[in-house]
Amino acid sequence: MAQNYDIVIIGGGIIGNSIAAHLANESENEKLKIAVINSSDLGIPASQAAAGLLTPFQLGEMENHSLKEFCLKSFEYFLNFQKQISEECKVNLGFSQSGSLYLIFSNLEFAQKENEIKKLRSITSSKISFINKQDISKLEPQITKEALNAYYYHEEAFINNPKFLKAIMEYCIERKVDYINSEVKEINVSKSRVESLLLKNNECIYAKNFVLCNGIWANDLLKKLFGTSEDLIKAVKGEVIQIESNKDLESLEKIIFCKEGYLLPRPATNQYETSSILVGSTYEEINTEKCLNPFYNSVHGVNSLLNLFQRILPAYSEFSISKMWSGLRPKTKDSLPVIGQTEQFENLILALGHYRNGILMGPYTGKLITELIMSGQSEYDLGLFKLERLLKPTSENKTNQHLITNH
Ligand SMILES: Cc1cc2nc3c(=O)[nH]c(=O)nc-3n(C[C@H](O)[C@H](O)[C@H](O)COP(=O)(O)OP(=O)(O)OC[C@H]3O[C@@H](n4cnc5c(N)ncnc54)[C@H](O)[C@@H]3O)c2cc1C
Repeated sequence: MAQNYDIVIIGGGIIGNSIAAHLANESENEKLKIAVINSSDLGIPASQAAAGLLTPFQLGEMENHSLKEFCLKSFEYFLNFQKQISEECKVNLGFSQSGSLYLIFSNLEFAQKENEIKKLRSITSSKISFINKQDISKLEPQITKEALNAYYYHEEAFINNPKFLKAIMEYCIERKVDYINSEVKEINVSKSRVESLLLKNNECIYAKNFVLCNGIWANDLLKKLFGTSEDLIKAVKGEVIQIESNKDLESLEKIIFCKEGYLLPRPATNQYETSSILVGSTYEEINTEKCLNPFYNSVHGVNSLLNLFQRILPAYSEFSISKMWSGLRPKTKDSLPVIGQTEQFENLILALGHYRNGILMGPYTGKLITELIMSGQSEYDLGLFKLERLLKPTSENKTNQHLITNH
């Protein structure tokens, strides 16, 4: 039987759920019928695999200035949003604004970091302090004595992202958002409008507005909609290991970065959990069709993460590995997300390609997309994040009509 909604969101990761939560708030006045369609059969969502870092000041010198600004704005917004979710759902989200320490091991690295920080200070007034060798252990007693010096970013934070995701879903369910566990196989369009979706079980879903935010799985639908042959959303594999803290040793409190990766605490959020440390993360661009096991950990990946752990926390070598996983970051060719209305389809909005900072950017993306749906405009200028920048200006660009069912 066909179902009818005001808004249907395709993809239930951090992006889809953040959009649903903001729309559900609006719905309290407008009585909107909202659905999130999310398949649980496709592989681990990036939003589950993420480490939960909320570290907008770590974007390197190479990163686009607009991305830095968007991440800073997202960070500001995140702080209040997580508080609201935690209070309303009465759940400990494992959030801590612990600050982060970036460890420096060579003079060359120091020069690079100094330069980066000079530029960062021109766009933020956030507190960043230089820490000399002797003072590093005052901030984190157990870490290596080999670093030359460090920078301390006072405001950076982390969250237990699987808990956060679950809490946002609960928040949405409480506000009558429907969750449909199925895969969207086709997006049916008629001229400049999306009419309906066809699900794997042949069910048809109609709506006034649609949002596509299905991470690295968006390519097939995008190809059919926009007639491009290229994968617009690349998959960048990342592996993480989780190391259980030993009760006899003081655990880590702050996020630790260095050139090779990061360590961060994942504290217990209830009496049944044990505090642990996450070590991340590897980086490997992959072709999902050719890669046999994109969601498995590799020997070289785990090996490099263990080496990093031992280098930064040499005293903790006896700790046990409790878990390991890998996920796929959704990345565009310019590493900027795609957020906003499409030019071809008036009732289709995209929210894709949040790459390495999707947990951080998710809630603010949710707010902006809700503004677009409710009023046709958003408080943040999304011009740079339009899909059209990624489409080649050739005949390829035209809608691939024969692949789309017209009604
Ligand atoms: C190892 C790793 C570490 C990371 N660490 C951090 C971090 O510390 N901080 C940070 O901010 N970001 C981090 N990220 C990035 C972040 O996880 C992503 O940017 C973000 O989760 C993307 O969210 P999403 O909702 O777009 O996609 P996803 O979370 O992948 O969700 C997409 C969902 O859509 C569903 N879906 C797909 N196709 C369909 C379909 N056709 N029909 C129905 N459902 C469908 C999928 O099943 C999935 O549930 C990390 C990523 C990885 C892999």
